[in-house]
Amino acid sequence: MPSTSGGCGEQGGALHLDKSEYVNSGSQGAEQMEAGGGDEYDDSSKFQNIKQPQTRKKTKKRKSLISLNVSASKYEIVRKVAEEFGNLTSADDDPACFLFWNDTAVSNERIAELKPYQRVNHFPAMGEICRKDCLARNLAKMMKVHPDEYNFSPKTWIFPAEYSSFQTYVRELKRKNKKRTFIVKPSNGSMGQGISLFRNGERIQQQDHTIVQEYLDKPFLLEGFKFDLRIYVLMTSCDPLRVFLFNDGLVRLSTEKYSAPSDTNVDQLYMHLTNYSINKRSENFERDEDVTKGSKRSIQYFNEYLKRNDYDVAAIWKNIADVINKTLVVAEPHVLHAYRMCRPGTSGNDSVCFEVLGFDIFLDKSLKPWLLEINRAPSFGTDEKIDLEIKSGLLYDALKLINMRPSDKRKGMAAQKAESRRRLFRPSKRLDLDLTEPDRKKLVLDRRKEELKEKLIHIRQENAREDFENRNMGRYQRIFPPQDKSSRDRYRKLISDAFNIFLAGRANSLQKEIAKLLSGSLREDEIIDMLQACDIENDGKQKAFKGPKPLSSMPSVVDEVTESDSRASSPTSSSPHNSVSNFKTRLSVSQSQSQLSKGISKTPIPKRPQSAQKSTNSRPHSGRLLYADQRSKSVARTSESQHASFDSEMDEVTSVVVREEEMMRKTLMALNDMRIKFPGKTDEEADIILNQIQENWKYHKPRIASYWLVKLDSIKRRKVIDIVKSNVRAVLQRTWRCPDVECLKLWRIFYRLFNRLLWSHGQGLWNCFSSNTSCSWDAIFNKNKEAVSGAEFMCCQRVIELCRQCLLIVYQFAAEAKLSIPAASGESSPTKQLSTRSSNPRPSPWLHSSPHKAMTPVSQRMSRLYLNKSLDNLAP
Ligand code: ADP
Repeated sequence: MPSTSGGCGEQGGALHLDKSEYVNSGSQGAEQMEAGGGDEYDDSSKFQNIKQPQTRKKTKKRKSLISLNVSASKYEIVRKVAEEFGNLTSADDDPACFLFWNDTAVSNERIAELKPYQRVNHFPAMGEICRKDCLARNLAKMMKVHPDEYNFSPKTWIFPAEYSSFQTYVRELKRKNKKRTFIVKPSNGSMGQGISLFRNGERIQQQDHTIVQEYLDKPFLLEGFKFDLRIYVLMTSCDPLRVFLFNDGLVRLSTEKYSAPSDTNVDQLYMHLTNYSINKRSENFERDEDVTKGSKRSIQYFNEYLKRNDYDVAAIWKNIADVINKTLVVAEPHVLHAYRMCRPGTSGNDSVCFEVLGFDIFLDKSLKPWLLEINRAPSFGTDEKIDLEIKSGLLYDALKLINMRPSDKRKGMAAQKAESRRRLFRPSKRLDLDLTEPDRKKLVLDRRKEELKEKLIHIRQENAREDFENRNMGRYQRIFPPQDKSSRDRYRKLISDAFNIFLAGRANSLQKEIAKLLSGSLREDEIIDMLQACDIENDGKQKAFKGPKPLSSMPSVVDEVTESDSRASSPTSSSPHNSVSNFKTRLSVSQSQSQLSKGISKTPIPKRPQSAQKSTNSRPHSGRLLYADQRSKSVARTSESQHASFDSEMDEVTSVVVREEEMMRKTLMALNDMRIKFPGKTDEEADIILNQIQENWKYHKPRIASYWLVKLDSIKRRKVIDIVKSNVRAVLQRTWRCPDVECLKLWRIFYRLFNRLLWSHGQGLWNCFSSNTSCSWDAIFNKNKEAVSGAEFMCCQRVIELCRQCLLIVYQFAAEAKLSIPAASGESSPTKQLSTRSSNPRPSPWLHSSPHKAMTPVSQRMSRLYLNKSLDNLAP
């Protein structure tokens, strides 16, 4: 089976992926300098900094501007490679650095707090495939839908839940007189710890946190030894999924020659396990300077070996890449959902997360790859020379691919300032009813153009990224998205089914949100066409849309237009009317928008024809109007009917915009009417309490700070915020007549706001008591590019106000509870009792039940608490 494509000698030893299917790294060298900030790449001099004088200057400057925090890594090699990219910051509290490298997974809160230019080396929710039990569960679900695709994982049972089905299987085997060996592993184990083999499944006890797998007893052997492959995979984005395979890795051999499992050898772990951490303890373990010998070898060597022995190396690696992609497809819905929860409103281009995953692949004797496990924290230990060579290379190329640029930080700050200015000077979005008809149209068109331009920028960023990747992949190769259409279609189907599985049984709202992700997106040329159509509408003449210089990977707009022109003018093209409808720009609403507009518009809005829809991933749209992806064929031939149709669409948009703004106004009013209700106290009494706290603020401030920031744990803090949250939700549901408020842009804004208030152990809300603008909550909107209208901003202010009041009330209740029923009531009790009341109150169980209490002045009561506490340093 000779190998034809790829080859070990090629490009420093590519992994034999068929280049027609997977984009190769493209040419390197001078081109890379223009690739948006990559250092000059030279494989041979990677760690020597032997560069052209001018390049060195540039690199030095760039390096000095980038700071990296690798203090959470114990690996020397991580530190060394990071030094190649910039200055290391040792203190954990350097919040402005470009990179955080953590040996272990990071919390969602940390991911949420990152600035767009920052990077962290983990995605959220990766445990869904990196814990053995989760992997088994998720693969099993996909296996049910695609048994032929997902047949690369050994049969697995998760104990204790699947103990009885395992026993049934064992009994069935016995009845059929079949013999199988089983391997038992801790669900969250690593490095071969706690693993044992059983010849008789009946002897396996029911245990917690364990998986049992059928033992693959026919391995492909290397010089008589069993081995597995440690393959390094870089994921740079989950939105959309982007995956790279490193073209080297480790072949880890066992240290005793292999024989099929028998009663006498099942305990010989040096024969059956291939973990380095197990086998290094064996006296037979061979350390060798040469990567082609010893118990740890390189994948490059392995490829050569296969080639020498006439195996189809390209086919093997194609299958391995397929296994990797299909596994990440299973993870994708979980990771994407978690990522969006952490970073709502940001586009995939800004992925702050990346991850180097270690895939452990077993090859059976027919060279079929089997997935054993995935490590999200693969070892970067460099015990041997081979480790140093491979791991430094893959780390270096990974950091290069994630493209950290000093300019991003500056740009981020500038964008933040511009956004603040824009918000400050933005004219009110309230549609002026005095506007003349042409002005009204112009306003709508301007808004439309703004949205289209945003989309165009997004697409261009994507193209720029691809361009950059093509030039800076080093020894990585992109395996997802694959280059060839048939693979793309196949994976698209798998992703869509993975999402269906993920969504089954989940909230309707989430289903809609995800459905939006999978719905169609516009191409660059389509947007340009639409922008030009706007200009024509505005000025009556065509303007060439000026944007950034197209990059090499951009689709050629000129070609597309010519092609469509010829299509339009061909005799087979449809009637003039049809051709007009082909190139006119249409407005539509996405699923969520139609949902959103349900309550506000009864006018059916034209939808993009089914046939024209693409199912590529797109970023979700805000709850506003969006201009759907009707392919516009040409802009050169406007006609009367086109204008007429455009006019009617504009009218529809305008009416929806007007109604939407009306809804915003109503929402704001409803929020303003909302009152926090004390059990047993009238609104007036509540006001008095709030006023008293306000009047004695100096006194209460440290006590409230202590209560909120120190005494309450995160769960209780969340409960306080949840009081407001659930009531705001109810207000939105009533006002928008929409049960799934998650599909509203306003709710997503609030959602971020609530998270912000809980940020840094409650510091977010505490900052809102301060007049210091530098720690203002609205920074979250500057950080992310999503624009927030004036009305939305005011709604946010009101929600903050409600949260502040709620905290004061809870604080008051805690104090009262302590005074009256000291033992029985904890701080959480007020959160249970409290509710809010809107202008349209619903009956509340406690509303009339509690007796009216005579009020002791709050300050007096408070003063009895906290007597012995020194709280002076807790000012916001
Ligand atoms: P750990 O995370 O503890 O390393 P693995 O699942 O990677 O656990 O298993 C450790 C080793 O056991 C593997 O490297 C492989 O050699 C062997 N092994 C694991 N599962 C199987 C299996 N189903 N069939 C054959 N060998 C296996």
